[in-house]
Amino acid sequence: TTPILEARDLFCTFQVRQGMFQPKRPLHAVNGVSLSIEKGGVLGLVGESGCGKSTVARMLLGLQEPTSGTLAIDGQPLEEIGRKQLAKRVQPIFQDPYSSLNPRKTIGNIITLPLYIHSIGDKADWRRKVEDIMDLCGLPKRAYDMYPSQLSGGQRQRVAIARALVMRPEIVICDEPTSALDVSVQAQILNLLLDLQKELGLTYVLISHNLAVVELIATKVAVMYLGRIVEEAEGQAFFAKQRHPYSEALLASVLTPQAGLGVPDAQLGTTFPNPIDPPPGCVFHPRCVHAGAVCKTTAPKTIRDGRGLVECHLYDDAVTV
Ligand code: SF4
Ligand code: MG
Repeated sequence: TTPILEARDLFCTFQVRQGMFQPKRPLHAVNGVSLSIEKGGVLGLVGESGCGKSTVARMLLGLQEPTSGTLAIDGQPLEEIGRKQLAKRVQPIFQDPYSSLNPRKTIGNIITLPLYIHSIGDKADWRRKVEDIMDLCGLPKRAYDMYPSQLSGGQRQRVAIARALVMRPEIVICDEPTSALDVSVQAQILNLLLDLQKELGLTYVLISHNLAVVELIATKVAVMYLGRIVEEAEGQAFFAKQRHPYSEALLASVLTPQAGLGVPDAQLGTTFPNPIDPPPGCVFHPRCVHAGAVCKTTAPKTIRDGRGLVECHLYDDAVTV
């Protein structure tokens, strides 16, 4: 079967200047990423901030053009789909329901806006469409005429979800959908996302540094480091055992008190490398507890097998670490 979403060899390079009198240099925010997801799946895209996961999300939404590589939905290249059609098929849910909702508009207006912008369906049906999706998202009818400031954080996130889903997209890109919320509310929102997925047959790309959240709902996990996917596996297999030393370290950091805050633990150290000046060899080697001499000079090959993908010399039979 054709995956509902497929990326092949995506690159996204920015020209950046580090100081006013410095020449511009290329920063490879996304440095050769391939991934695919089946309809109804949940792809968890994880990694520290700066790893390129948000840039991948922006490309999937058509907000950022790849420097090279291809993106396809149901086998159709993104550039052939066109903005309006793309907005109908792929919608984002962002992390901060406080700043993403216009405080001067009513909830009804906020959720209707995407239908208006993309002139979807009959105007006469908008009210019903909005009320239907509000109901599915667990929002009371009276919220229609209320303002964001009158709602709790959890309800505001439900509004943000309703606004994304009123378009009835097939794919939803959730960028840290719960990290701005209290822990007790996080679980409710995750359960809502799962219920909606079943009810509406959605496919999710879940971008998060919170591995507990990813473990709960992802069917497939891809770990990103400095613009590349360094490990990919089915969710269960990944959480049972990680292959890449970076994945291992990420999982270990979940068990520290900073869990979920994206704060690296002792094992990872605090030195996230400068992406404009990546280390030679394996870009993870300065932080890797398993690094050997070869890691400092030679980049590991991408190994694909029955379990998924891993990019580390430890799994290359031809290399001794
Ligand atoms: Fe660590 Fe070497 Fe594997 Fe890179 S290639 S992750 S440095 S063991
Ligand atoms: Mg980000």
